[in-house]
Amino acid sequence: MNVTPAPVLKLIDELSRLPGIGPKTASRLTFYLLRAAPEQPLALAEALKELHEKVVFCSRCFNITETDPCPICTNELRDQSTICVVEDPLDVLAIERTGDYHGRYHVLHGVIAPVEGIGPEDLKIAELLERVRKENPKELIIATNPNMEGEATAMYILRQLEGSGVAVTRLARGLPVGGDLEYADEVTLSRALAGRSVM
Ligand code: ZN
Repeated sequence: MNVTPAPVLKLIDELSRLPGIGPKTASRLTFYLLRAAPEQPLALAEALKELHEKVVFCSRCFNITETDPCPICTNELRDQSTICVVEDPLDVLAIERTGDYHGRYHVLHGVIAPVEGIGPEDLKIAELLERVRKENPKELIIATNPNMEGEATAMYILRQLEGSGVAVTRLARGLPVGGDLEYADEVTLSRALAGRSVM
C-alpha cells in the first residue's frame, strides 16, 4: 500500500517531466515545498499560471512577449534591414546582452533534427521565408548553434533563399563547436557577431 498522499505523488510526477529533473530531484523539491512557508509554493503556482496566461509568441518574430508584436519588432530605432535568426528565445537574450546587435530577430523554435523527427515544417522557417519576401531585409544573420543540427538548419535556410537577393551571413567561428549560444559569454558572442561572414 502506498502511504504517500496523492497530491505529493502528483507534484513529484509533474516535476519529473521537466528537463534535467529526475524522480529523485522531483521528490526533493516536492518535500522542500511541503515544508516551506505557504507563500513560496503559492507564488510558484501563480508564476506558472501567468506563464501561459500572459506570455505569448510575437506573431512576427516568434520571440516570447507580453505584447504582440513584441517590443523589439515595434522599436522603430532598431535596424529594419537586418534579421538575426536564432533557435530559441534564450538566444535572443544572449545576443541582447552583448549590446552590439541593433537589428531584429526571428526565432525558429528549434533546429532541423531528422533523428528526432524534426523537419523544417516543425519550425518557423516558412514564416521566415515569408518575412524575407515581405520585409525585404538586406541581411539575414544565421545564429543557430555551432553543431551539426545548427549547421544543417543554416544550410537549409541558405538554399531556400538562393536568388532572393538577401545576404545570408553566419556567426564567426570562435564559438565553441558543439556549444550552446545561450551559454556563450558576451565577449565571445560579440566577436562572433562582428566577424560574421557570408555563407
Ligand atoms: Zn517580435
